[in-house]
Amino acid sequence: MRILTGLQPSGGLTLGNYIGAIKQMVKYQDEYESFIFVADLHAITVPQNPEELRRNIKSLIAIYLASGLDKDKNTIFIQSENIYHSNMSWLLECLTPYGELGRMTQFKDKSLKHQNFGAGLLTYPVLMASDILLYDADFVPTGVDQKQHVELARNIAERVNKKYGDIFKLPEPLIPKDGAKICDLQDPTKKMSKSSENPKGVIYLLDTEDVIRKKIMSAVTDSDNEIKYDPDTKPGISNLINIYTSLSGMKVEEVVFKFKDSNYGTFKRIVADLVVETLIPIQKRYQEIINSPELDKILDAGRDKTLEIARRKYLELKDRMGLGR
Ligand code: ATP
Ligand code: MG
Repeated sequence: MRILTGLQPSGGLTLGNYIGAIKQMVKYQDEYESFIFVADLHAITVPQNPEELRRNIKSLIAIYLASGLDKDKNTIFIQSENIYHSNMSWLLECLTPYGELGRMTQFKDKSLKHQNFGAGLLTYPVLMASDILLYDADFVPTGVDQKQHVELARNIAERVNKKYGDIFKLPEPLIPKDGAKICDLQDPTKKMSKSSENPKGVIYLLDTEDVIRKKIMSAVTDSDNEIKYDPDTKPGISNLINIYTSLSGMKVEEVVFKFKDSNYGTFKRIVADLVVETLIPIQKRYQEIINSPELDKILDAGRDKTLEIARRKYLELKDRMGLGR
């Protein structure tokens, strides 16, 4: 079985990305044939500074490796180094109704945040469908925020298969059960995002220990001072419970029971300890990897291998659609 995951180099990676994506990828590398890429073409759907973008791309790869992704168990590559992602995307865009894309939640959210956004923000999910379908991925490990996009990829695949014959495998999202969605510490009704405007609500994987502790200690909570899990009425404390649950491997009920007599201050300190304990070793390995020539070797190998696979899939659809000679 094959899985595929991409992360955007649209800013420093967050604890949400770690819990929702990277940690899962580390777990899956022993169970699946795993393709992992840096989604730099996705990142430019909103404005990016070129120097920063290039730094983020490299940093993202180093974080993948520092988090425990093994270069021999995963195929790791940069999306824009494989031309077939954009080529496939164009074919699929022409086969995807405009209205379907306008209904995507992420498009609705992000289009409100950016003025004069590019058309790519709307067609982004089609590029994502191409990423997935080019490799016949069985599963796409993802946070709940991307579930709708994987479903769209599946719909596109079904439609294409019906029209042009069996070309694509139908992918399914692979969503972790507990604590899949981590929220912003300052606005716990919002997802924690690396492109967020307020860095105080976001824990970046490369934040210093001091900064991590400060952000968690000043996380917005309610005034009951009772540790209870209820994302609707107590989003702040529930978010901290989710973080603790995901990093400790415990169940939500176990965490609530364990801390039922603690006050918010104590609980926050314990959550901060666990986050620090998780991130500091990753940061140490990151520093060793970021300037090593090994990075380029891994990326060259990933590019060459995926170009071969993607080319075949692209040519198959292109041919069945009647393009070219
Ligand atoms: P952006 O704000 O640029 O969209 P992002 O933080 O949402 O950045 P993505 O690159 O869009 O990150 O997503 C990368 C992966 O991380 C996806 O699998 C997504 O489901 C997961 N993810 C992102 N944010 C969270 C979160 N807050 N909680 C859990 N998983 C998340
Ligand atoms: Mg996102």
